[in-house]
Amino acid sequence: MKVAACGVCRTDLHVVDGELPDPKVPIIPGHEIVGRIDAVGAGVEGLKVGERVGIPWLGHTCGVCPYCLGGQENLCDRPLFTGYTRDGGFATATIADARFAFPLGEAGDDVELAPLLCAGLIGWRSLVIAGTGKKLGLYGFGAAAHILAQVAKCQERSVFAFTRPGDVTSQSFARRLGATWAGGSEERPPEPLDAAIIFATVGDLVPLALKAVRKGGRVVCAGIHMSDIPSFPYHLLWEERQLVSVANLTRQDGIDFLRLVPEFGIVTHTTRYPLNQANQALTDLRAGRFEGAAVLVP
Ligand SMILES: [Zn+2]
Ligand SMILES: [Zn+2]
Repeated sequence: MKVAACGVCRTDLHVVDGELPDPKVPIIPGHEIVGRIDAVGAGVEGLKVGERVGIPWLGHTCGVCPYCLGGQENLCDRPLFTGYTRDGGFATATIADARFAFPLGEAGDDVELAPLLCAGLIGWRSLVIAGTGKKLGLYGFGAAAHILAQVAKCQERSVFAFTRPGDVTSQSFARRLGATWAGGSEERPPEPLDAAIIFATVGDLVPLALKAVRKGGRVVCAGIHMSDIPSFPYHLLWEERQLVSVANLTRQDGIDFLRLVPEFGIVTHTTRYPLNQANQALTDLRAGRFEGAAVLVP
């Protein structure tokens, strides 16, 4: 496919920084790809040249392991991940497994759609796993949280946004997107939360989030990598609080989420960079220099 836009995700930083095991090296990062099919391989059905598709993080699964057979292909024993163990979208063209390409239709701008393919999808899976509680905490208000805040609002939930301490820019961004409350990660929310999702890669947030949720509440770690979690007193977990992680996505997550996007009326906030400024985009992401999501345009 010819790449039209590719989002820049926190996971790309982990790949570039060598924080994830066994990458394909050299690797072309990027797993939020929007583009048009340029050629179709033998045996591909249902996709045609010129069609716009999205390529997500899950690039291939084996189809025969117990996880694939049990409806948990996100946990496949022999997966390939776009931009990590197979080449991704920081490029003018890329090759994808057609079975893992989502038709995107013609509605919406390439750049604005790109962040939906990981930030949106992983955010969606995290939200489903967080449960149906009305008071939702989001730790780290970047690409995923800015999409999820809009989804949560449509679902008539209250969002409590936690940012780096003192990051008033992100806090006001969160309020503009409908957050009920926004503050620093070390602050306690004004009322106990039903669930919290941690997008930031900071292990210290785990005990803080456990402190913020009510009895029976759930804390979801949505990142692929996190600094070590400090030890914490058992009473933070006591009373049936749950601590879980979310790994990858299934194709069904993508189908479910992309079907709901028009209904949710999600507007992604993007900062465009030309492809040859990919390193600058990664640097700015690391420093938290933009609101929403960075997207590379070849
Ligand atoms: Zn498998
Ligand atoms: Zn990602």
